Amino acid sequence: MTRQDEATPGTFGEFGGRHVPEVMEEPLERLAEAYENVVRTPEFRAAFLDVLEAYAGRPTPLYHATGLSEAYGADVYLKREDLLHGGAHKINNAVGQALLAKKAGKTRLIAETGAGQHGTATAMVGALFDLDTEIYMGRKDADRQRMNVFRMRLMGAAVNEVTRGGAGLADAVDAALEDFAGNVDDTHYLVGSAVGPDPFPRMVREFQSVIGEEAREQIVEETGGLPDAAVACVGGGSNAIGLFHAFRDDDVAFYGGEGGGEGATSTRHAAPLSSGKSDVLHGMRTRVIDDDVEVHSVSAGLDYPGVGPEHAMFRAVGRCEYRAITDDEALDAFRTLSETEGIVPALESSHAVALAKRVADEHDTIVVNLSGRGDKDMEQAAELFDL
Ligand SMILES: *Cc1c(COP(=O)(O)O)cnc(C)c1O
Repeated sequence: MTRQDEATPGTFGEFGGRHVPEVMEEPLERLAEAYENVVRTPEFRAAFLDVLEAYAGRPTPLYHATGLSEAYGADVYLKREDLLHGGAHKINNAVGQALLAKKAGKTRLIAETGAGQHGTATAMVGALFDLDTEIYMGRKDADRQRMNVFRMRLMGAAVNEVTRGGAGLADAVDAALEDFAGNVDDTHYLVGSAVGPDPFPRMVREFQSVIGEEAREQIVEETGGLPDAAVACVGGGSNAIGLFHAFRDDDVAFYGGEGGGEGATSTRHAAPLSSGKSDVLHGMRTRVIDDDVEVHSVSAGLDYPGVGPEHAMFRAVGRCEYRAITDDEALDAFRTLSETEGIVPALESSHAVALAKRVADEHDTIVVNLSGRGDKDMEQAAELFDL
């Protein structure tokens, strides 16, 4: 399936590509070949879907949220990725890449993690597929997320606390990239979102596209037609691209909610599509936040200075509208969904719910990707709300 915008595989218009040191060119080229020759075969797809069904809990429901619909004034359907094993969509990608690593004869997985959600998903599949697993996590993040560190170790993963630089996510990525460069023969770097050098953005999209494929079938079955709009939150952009792709050639409006923090015109946000510039980051050309902006979002999973290159292209060609959802709007949606439906969303997913509210008067039927559940955010929420 060669598309015009991917005339050169792995590029999305002017974005994407493989901006890496020379030692990484060859292993990435081999991974790109594996993506073409292994991942895209019907046999691999069948094995992948089998694991997702038996282990992760697919298919997930598409739920007509009548209480929320009434509150917002449009028919809102929630794609319940929050019901998956681990509580978020991240397991889809982790299973796919681990399966590929196993088939390619790798014995070791490494991954970076910020708040610990992707590290946890990687630890799960490391245990499931019996692969040595090492997670790189900034010391600052590890200190804030002790339970996630413990959970990863419980499942047999080594958690390497990174102390260099700011001891955060970007430093963990650098450490993981260095590890990968030195151990390419036996190690697979399990990248956690649709970001990084080619082939990761297109490979992660492939694994997450199961979300949109299911949702498309479900909404047609339920309503007899396609939705007017599809809405998702955007950190690196994997759950969003996974929802959007099945509707890409349809007359369905796309909306992506970025971590707007204190607002896209403030100096504390994670909204490179609403405000930012084109630059090279973590092996890809994409949009990144401006130099004078401190990367911040109330939700740790959206707290990333860049974004997947396909979203940068969607923005450039006008296929998707991206909006900066502020911390306050997200927290408001977090409470509204909890109260109207008895579903506590992840703070990340709350950005998608809030964006549905913003566009509800322009569209009748809206599919919102509920990327994860809010259990992990309880402590933070309890400090913010005086209930
Ligand atoms: C990690 C995470 C995100 C952000 O990642 P994307 O790659 O943008 O999907 C969103 N929601 C949840 C629940 C997450 O854990």
